[in-house]
Amino acid sequence: MKRKQIVAGNWKMNLNFKEGIKLASDVAKKLPLSDVLVVLGTPAIHLQAVNEVVKNFSGIKVAAQNCHQSEKGAYTGELSLDMIESVGAEYVILGHSERREYFKEDNAVLAKKVDAVLAKGLTPIFCCGEALPIRKKKKHVAHVKKQLQDSLFHLKPAQFSKIVIAYEPIWAIGTGVTATPEQAQEMHKAIRKMIATKYSSKVAEGISILYGGSVKPANAKSLFGQADVDGGLVGGASLKAADFIQVVQGFDQ
Ligand code: PEP
Repeated sequence: MKRKQIVAGNWKMNLNFKEGIKLASDVAKKLPLSDVLVVLGTPAIHLQAVNEVVKNFSGIKVAAQNCHQSEKGAYTGELSLDMIESVGAEYVILGHSERREYFKEDNAVLAKKVDAVLAKGLTPIFCCGEALPIRKKKKHVAHVKKQLQDSLFHLKPAQFSKIVIAYEPIWAIGTGVTATPEQAQEMHKAIRKMIATKYSSKVAEGISILYGGSVKPANAKSLFGQADVDGGLVGGASLKAADFIQVVQGFDQ
């Protein structure tokens, strides 16, 4: 079975409005590249305009970087899924390690966010991954398993099949240190096995699992060449069109 290949950019809190529109249009003009789906995770204030830019191109979609789990209400500063959907975003990045660390998002709140995203008919890009001390103790697979169990494994198979997973070892995010292709493959294979055990091999084989953590033009090809790596979630290298496109080209064309 051919899984969807996805390269998602996570702009985080970078680029003003004008810069964001320029980057989106520079990337979109180079697409589509083969069967790879490109997703731009933009700051909230850019979502609508970036979607206007990319909607005329194929192979590219827009993602919010977070959402609130409630439908609406007195949550000053937050974004509802209705707002996100109403400007054309189809993906929502959830559980990024920066959200977990700085905004204290835990597995339980992420389970609610996952439910809310799916209920709105959007696609969660669910991030998981371990910090360095956990890897040093060789507890990384167990750590990721708990993240999936607590935030995703309550889903029914049909719901779970709509999820995209991003494995992002925290020690590799924004550090310039990338997991080796073997380290990425080991974890991706383990994640797929967890899904097969919980659901079925069929469900597991259909889930796109992205790797994130200092993906750049120089290492994209070797990472994307691994059997269970279906693409990337890319921070720093998504901020320059040429670099980002080269990362997307890491898939054999
Ligand atoms: C990220 O933000 O998800 C990320 C992986 O960042 P970077 O590519 O810069 O390590």
